[in-house]
Amino acid sequence: MTTTTTPRTFGPALGLSCRECGETYDIGPRYACELCFGPLEVAYDFGGVTRDSIAAGPRNIWRYRGLLPVPDHVTDTPNTEPGCTRLVRADGLASALGLRRLWLKDDTGNPTHSFKDRVVAVALAAARELGFKVLACPSTGNLANAVAAASARGGIKSVVFVPHDLEQQKITTTAVYGGTLMAVEGNYDDVNRLASELAGEFEEWAFVNVNVRPYYAEGSKTLGYEIAEQLGWRLPGQVVVPVASGSQLTKVDKAFRELGTLGLVDETPYRVFGAQATGCSPVAQAYKAGHDVVQPVRPSTIAKSLAIGNPADGPYVLDIARRTGGAVEDVTDDEVVEGMTLLARTEGIFAETAGGVTVAVLKKLVESGKLDPEAETAAIISGDGLKTLDAVSAVARPTATIAPTVEAFRAVHDKAGI
Ligand SMILES: *Cc1c(COP(=O)(O)O)cnc(C)c1O
Ligand SMILES: [Zn+2]
Repeated sequence: MTTTTTPRTFGPALGLSCRECGETYDIGPRYACELCFGPLEVAYDFGGVTRDSIAAGPRNIWRYRGLLPVPDHVTDTPNTEPGCTRLVRADGLASALGLRRLWLKDDTGNPTHSFKDRVVAVALAAARELGFKVLACPSTGNLANAVAAASARGGIKSVVFVPHDLEQQKITTTAVYGGTLMAVEGNYDDVNRLASELAGEFEEWAFVNVNVRPYYAEGSKTLGYEIAEQLGWRLPGQVVVPVASGSQLTKVDKAFRELGTLGLVDETPYRVFGAQATGCSPVAQAYKAGHDVVQPVRPSTIAKSLAIGNPADGPYVLDIARRTGGAVEDVTDDEVVEGMTLLARTEGIFAETAGGVTVAVLKKLVESGKLDPEAETAAIISGDGLKTLDAVSAVARPTATIAPTVEAFRAVHDKAGI
């Protein structure tokens, strides 16, 4: 792509900078450093953002527009945009786990029921400004939902690539929006490689997590901003974040640091913990082995939304966990299901498998003494359980099936001790 003809602004964004060598670039449709192939990240000059200016904004992610690489004219459309999901004080789960104060960031409340609506909203705004004509992505499922829905609503074509063995619910909840959906015979890492190749061929397509990834990734910062704002402009002492590519975790940390630097919160210390499923835990394995690099794996887990065997931001996750005194932990698929049911039964929140990973890792970290039970803890519930019904269909069943008579009920009632 060459530059567009219309003038463009990206709010407080100044340009892009290489996370590895620091080389800087103008804002544009780039994502990799020309010198070292390192990932590019948005660089800013923030000015004039205050708690009041944020509070005066809409009740969605655009209240943080002054901290995001989006054009000033991105419209305020309350109730239809992602963000401002609830922060739930989870006393039931906290007492089950032995934690004193636990908050759950319940991102099932976004338009397509996962945190991916946040990143897609920012990617779409940037893609339009950069002159792209189609929104595309490789996806482990939730991104597919979010891209297809945002494209339908925004009147732009979408082309989405997913592994063919994705949960049926995620296929349906993508295809229903009417864009192009390609089921690819391979795992996510195959799909991702294909998308990178296609991004080189189809220059008018914005692959949200490939060629506009620097903008997309910034959308995850809004999770961190919201947690702090909803706590009354404070940082939690510990935060547990699910890890697929690692982007969400790195941006929650970035958001906390930015808020401290800008004086919007006190710079209190916080520890960042990453959560993976054992069947796809390349970052947790590298963390435990003391490595700085992440060895790719072939995923095999029910937590498909986190099943990225070659996570782009893995090394940055390791840095953050080590720098903040956190950790990266993993849990088995059985523990994931237990995490899902524990969350549902203590808090009335039905999360998808990724939420089960977060809750089960939370439990494991408390049990191993890595989490301080006295410190205020926040955990991110990133997707809705209705998207991964199969994971719990064997354990979430009717208590009994009975004839429509009082006797039949009594017979079961007496036996089961309901
Ligand atoms: C994509 C996703 C994540 C994390 O993704 P990153 O690639 O690490 O940013 C977490 N939870 C759910 C439900 C997701 O779909
Ligand atoms: Zn570089």
